[in-house]
Amino acid sequence: MTIQFHEDTGNRGIEWCDETRNPTGGCLHGCRWVMPDGTIANCYAGDLAEHGVAAAAYPNGFRHHYWRPHELRQLGAEAVPRLIFSGSMSDMFAPAVPAEQVHAILDALRGARHHAYHTLTKAAPQLLKYTDRMPPNLWVGVSSPPDWFMGRRLTRTQQEAMLRTSMKVLAEVRRRTGNLVWMSAEPLSWDLAAVIGSEHPLDWAVIGAASNGRRTHQPDPAHVENLLRVLDGTGTPVFFKGNLGPTFASHDFGEENRNRWREDFPMRYRDGREIPAVAEGSGGASSAGGRGSASRSCDRGGAP
Ligand code: SF4
Repeated sequence: MTIQFHEDTGNRGIEWCDETRNPTGGCLHGCRWVMPDGTIANCYAGDLAEHGVAAAAYPNGFRHHYWRPHELRQLGAEAVPRLIFSGSMSDMFAPAVPAEQVHAILDALRGARHHAYHTLTKAAPQLLKYTDRMPPNLWVGVSSPPDWFMGRRLTRTQQEAMLRTSMKVLAEVRRRTGNLVWMSAEPLSWDLAAVIGSEHPLDWAVIGAASNGRRTHQPDPAHVENLLRVLDGTGTPVFFKGNLGPTFASHDFGEENRNRWREDFPMRYRDGREIPAVAEGSGGASSAGGRGSASRSCDRGGAP
């Protein structure tokens, strides 16, 4: 497990979770994003695994599937409720991940109801294979479509179709399971708002820029604003990654609420039960005054 908030230094990693726990590793998707300043951003997890602090754990490179069953026990460890991103160094629902492994992970999450778990995938249709095994404490997430995927540049039409499919799949996941569903748009590299629309199923959204060490590559402010309009119109809580700070420092969105820095979470599961890790707070955002409070933060990254 990797703790995402360090009380001694105040440093925060992936700000929207307390920890990452990873029984799976590696990914074949090869995502890349073209930011408005012309920078091409790579998968952050891939960079960490091939050139960064995680390199020792990825002897075959990042484009390889790693299964670490000994990490399954870690998934449910600790009595204090946590927000845990399971699969931060992979896409655990990718077709290359054997179903038995996904089942083993989902069963482990089910056994630790006091924790809340985030997952993300770019292979949204795969989620429908697992709805009968999804535990209620799983927040089922999709990532917004990147600009490069599986070694090729996507057209805008392809990106829109992929996002439309992801929203339909999340709506179906929600219908079948009642679980919270969410989307990560980090980095936000194109205008998602028209596809998301007012009928979206999302219970939560994360928006971010691209990072390269301390340098950030900001999204088009109009794309941030358009997405916020849709999400605010549906009362959807939004969490900004810290690397989006320069956009808010340099751009006036024209309305007080639109200019508000957000680190908001859903407070309850869809059946009305409180989410202990959000209500009590346990690390990351809570240290700045409770989940849902507004507070700026430093940045690192995350995946998918
Ligand atoms: S961003 Fe996620 S889905 Fe894309 S290559 Fe990285 S781990 Fe895989």
